[in-house]
Amino acid sequence: MHQSSEPISTETLGAVRRIWLNRPEARNAQSQQMLEALDQAFTQAEHDPAIRVVLLAARGAHFSAGHDLKQAQAERAEFTVEQRWAYEEKHYYGYCLRIWDFPKPTVVQVQGACMAAGFMLANMCDLVVAAEDAFFSDPVTHTMGAAATEVLIHPWVMGLRQAKEFLFTGARWSAQQAREAGFVNRVVPTADLDAETLALAQRIAQAPPFALRVLKKSLNRSVDVRGLREALSAHFDLHQLSHVSEEYRQTKEAGLASAIAKGARA
Ligand code: ZN
Repeated sequence: MHQSSEPISTETLGAVRRIWLNRPEARNAQSQQMLEALDQAFTQAEHDPAIRVVLLAARGAHFSAGHDLKQAQAERAEFTVEQRWAYEEKHYYGYCLRIWDFPKPTVVQVQGACMAAGFMLANMCDLVVAAEDAFFSDPVTHTMGAAATEVLIHPWVMGLRQAKEFLFTGARWSAQQAREAGFVNRVVPTADLDAETLALAQRIAQAPPFALRVLKKSLNRSVDVRGLREALSAHFDLHQLSHVSEEYRQTKEAGLASAIAKGARA
C-alpha cells in the first residue's frame, strides 16, 4: 500500500525508478509540497547509479488536472509581482526545466485528465505513453486570462500550427488526437498502461547508460540550437506580465464568483 498522505511515492523496478504523483483524491493537483517532493525524487534518481530510466506516473483516474489552484488562492492570492515571479520561476519553470534536462531518459504514462500544468509536466519527459482514456488540454488562457502555462513547450512537442489550435481553442484532445499531433508516442489500452510503459522503460534501460546520457544531451541540443531555451525564457516573462493584466484580474474574479456560486448550490 502506498501512503496516501505523501504527495509523491516511488518504487524501484530493476533499473527503472517509477515516481508516482499521489494525490488521486485531488486529481493530482500539483501542490507546492508535491512539486518539492517531485523535484527531490528526481534528484535522488539522478544520483543513484543503479537507476537508468525514470518513469513518471500518477495514481488514480487522472494524471494531473494542473496546479493546485485552491492552495494558490489560499496562500498566494496577495502575492506581489516580485513574489509571484520568484515563486513561479522556482516551482513551475525551474523544476520543469530540471526534468527536461534530467540526464537520464524519462518516460511518462498518462491516463484521464492531463491539463494545464499537468500537460506542461508530462511534456517535460522524453517519451509519452497515453492510455486510451487520456485527454489533453491547456485552457488557462480561456479560463484565467493568463498566457498559457509557465513553460511554453507546446510548439516544440507538437509543431507551431497544432500548438496555435490547441492553445487558442483550449479544447480537449483525445489520446488519439495527441498521437496524431505528435506529442504522444504510443496509445495503449487503459488496463495495460502500467505494464506497457514499464516494458518500454525497461527496454530503454538495457542500453549502455553513458551513451544514452550523451545521446539525450545531443537530441536536446538539436532544439537548443533552434532557440528552445531563449523562447521558453521569453515566454516565462510574458506569462508573468499576463498575470498582472486587468483582463487577468477580471477573468479570475469572474471564475471565482462562478465557482463560489456553484459551491453555494451544491
Ligand atoms: Zn503563472
